[in-house]
Amino acid sequence: MKRILVTGGAGFIGSHLCERLVKEGNDVICVDNFFTGSKKNIEKLFECHNFELIRHDVTKELLVEVDQVYNLACPASPVHYQYDPVKTINTSVMGAINMLELAKAVRARVLQASTSEVYGDPAVHPQPEEYWGNVNPIGIRSCYDEGKRVAETLFFDYHRQYSVDIKVIRIFNTYGPNMSTNDGRVVSNFIVQALKGDDITIYGNGTQTRSFCYVDDLVEGMIRMMNSRDGFTGPVNLGNPREFNMLALAEKVIKLTGSKSKIIYKELPADDPTQRKPVIDLAKKELDWEPTIPLDKGLEKTIEYFRSVV
Ligand code: NAD
Ligand code: UDP
Repeated sequence: MKRILVTGGAGFIGSHLCERLVKEGNDVICVDNFFTGSKKNIEKLFECHNFELIRHDVTKELLVEVDQVYNLACPASPVHYQYDPVKTINTSVMGAINMLELAKAVRARVLQASTSEVYGDPAVHPQPEEYWGNVNPIGIRSCYDEGKRVAETLFFDYHRQYSVDIKVIRIFNTYGPNMSTNDGRVVSNFIVQALKGDDITIYGNGTQTRSFCYVDDLVEGMIRMMNSRDGFTGPVNLGNPREFNMLALAEKVIKLTGSKSKIIYKELPADDPTQRKPVIDLAKKELDWEPTIPLDKGLEKTIEYFRSVV
């Protein structure tokens, strides 16, 4: 049993992580400012004696005695991270500094939730961890991409300079229950549109690809990484290597929901990556991890969740 801090714990991924860590008997402290997360996502944990919630913004300092820190606080949907881009980059950079300072002060192990977005619009496909990426430094996605890249830099500098015990994961597109209905990311958008009978909005011509990981698989990988051998810092890709284009995803969602929605095409946002698929050899080797839940199965569970909230 450990004392574990989860920043962004009321968000989509964070809420699943908190639930799993609480179930395993750890003392879990969730920190969130509720920008995109909600108390609803974690309300069933409120009655647990080993769960605490602190309303706090990670851009401000925090000192709590813990053994492990999972740093997830940051809006992850383009719609949300572009709403206040200056705040987004501030959250990534100051959030990283504050969590690293905390880890340094109390000698905790700290894991950074980085992202496949550090590869930008990748010129190498699929993406191994060695690839340095192709990121526009001044575009509308940069507040997120560059913020996460700086956070990785800070993690490795704190490790080299102060011997802070770090772990860095690069998460690829993840989906599942507890995404908010207005999240704006593709899986939740398509499902909500299909359930409401609204048009399904494909941006661009739908040939761009993503590789979707069900949240339970991701959480398993995160916990394995946090508890991996001393000295293994990552970065390690965590994602499902099965690649789909957005048109195929839309058709799958229509089929699984039995919806009568029709597909419409909208303008592709600037700098939208054309392809994305992780190489997960490192995760397999170091963590003995690979995703087990196929897209159809994960979509069914996610659709069931959205049926209960839409
Ligand atoms: P989310 O938006 O659902 O969750 C983010 C959480 O962080 C929310 O609860 C939000 O309120 C909180 N938060 C935001 N700014 C904060 C701040 N300044 N202080 C405190 N809390 C703050 O997103 P998610 O999909 O759960 O993503 C969680 C993490 O995983 C993020 O760091 C994201 O970059 C990373 N990630 C997610 C994906 C994905 O596909 N879901 C992919 C790559 C990386
Ligand atoms: N997308 C889409 N329709 C939507 C939302 C997103 O076609 O309603 C596309 C988007 O342009 C991108 C892909 O789906 O090419 C994944 O978008 P998302 O925002 O989920 O994640 P990210 O682009 O950050 O990988």
